[in-house]
Amino acid sequence: MIYALKGDIAYSKNLNELSTYKNHYLICDGKKSLGVFKSIPKKFKVSKIYNFSDKLIIPGLVDMHLHAPQYSFIGMRMDLELIDWLNTNTFPEEAKYKNKKYAESAYKIFASDLKKSATTRFVCFATLHYDATSILFDLLEKTGLKGYVGKVNMDRNSTKELSETKEDSIKNTLKLIKKVSKNKNVKYIITPRFIPSCSNELLKELGKISKEYSLPIQSHLSENRSEVLWVKDLLPESKSYADAYHMFELFGEHTNTVMAHCVWCNEIDMKLMENNKIWVAHSPSSNRNLSSGNAPIREYLDRNINVGLATDVAGGSYLSMFRTIEDTITTSKLKWLEKDIEKEKNTSTKELKSLKFNEAFYLATRGGGKFFDDGDTKVGSLAEGFDFDCLVLDDKNFDTTLYKELTIEERLERFMYRPNEKLVAKFVAGKKII
Ligand SMILES: [Zn+2]
Repeated sequence: MIYALKGDIAYSKNLNELSTYKNHYLICDGKKSLGVFKSIPKKFKVSKIYNFSDKLIIPGLVDMHLHAPQYSFIGMRMDLELIDWLNTNTFPEEAKYKNKKYAESAYKIFASDLKKSATTRFVCFATLHYDATSILFDLLEKTGLKGYVGKVNMDRNSTKELSETKEDSIKNTLKLIKKVSKNKNVKYIITPRFIPSCSNELLKELGKISKEYSLPIQSHLSENRSEVLWVKDLLPESKSYADAYHMFELFGEHTNTVMAHCVWCNEIDMKLMENNKIWVAHSPSSNRNLSSGNAPIREYLDRNINVGLATDVAGGSYLSMFRTIEDTITTSKLKWLEKDIEKEKNTSTKELKSLKFNEAFYLATRGGGKFFDDGDTKVGSLAEGFDFDCLVLDDKNFDTTLYKELTIEERLERFMYRPNEKLVAKFVAGKKII
């Protein structure tokens, strides 16, 4: 069924430029965008028009990294550093997902809130438990959102309550891959928690499984300085943290791979990220909350490394991708300031210009969306041929007419800084889910 949305439309043309259309029609063939038009061309047999006049219509936002089981304690113990936070907060809570009833109740809340949020696509960690992860898949599949979920693999350096043997880890991973192989919306992604949590044997097996089943990979890279040193201790033969994944064919050698954080990557890491077309899932809220640091996003962009944005719930203290865009800009300004001060001391190698609004918006839409491109599927824009993921935003509850008449671009920027404004409708691959 072909239908149209009428309103004020904006999407990224490229990293720097927005395409905007005042009072235009965005046409969908039921799955993909047919493009934006001043009036509806006769060749399209449009059977329904949604009138969103004066509202903003933008592409859906892509959350490249979050942890479903951590949603229950979002915003708690944000005064700890990463490793303490994992041991006191995260591992005890994740252990509770052994109980199927608990998992079902908690994941119902998560799935329902994610559906109501601005996120249309996601890449998500579960826990190590087969049953709980299976429940999460079923709940998310029903939301109509699209994304990837992985059962976490972790057979060392965890608590007694939250651990698995290498054999169970592999067995349950394979069982889940089989169970969700026919899913339409939510697919499997190989998910080693991070190098310190996985034995060499487990990492090796996961690399093989990813290759055999052509599955993408998600994990964490260089989030925290003591974690980087820990990896060096555990794998002294690795040339860098990224190389520790590369040694086990878990670093984009044969599939799409997304690495969360990438705060402390060195030159060897960055070269490997470039050569293997890694996605960086930039999580500014989490990096600040857990005193991890501030990732050099400008440098990644200058090196043509793929970057998407992420909430990293619950290291990140909100589910809102609007706020993630805001925080991406703010933290990039602090990064620039940090480098500028270093320059005065003559220790800087390179300036890191802060990110503009259009750049952060691109990263939240097409930047992460590219991870979902597959064959003739393209994600993250409203241009013709892209999967029809879109949001309708009502920004009229704050009257700016006294100030000035705002352009679509200005309205959009202001919306990101005022996330309490309304999300009116949400479409994923042509299906209206809100
Ligand atoms: Zn994470």
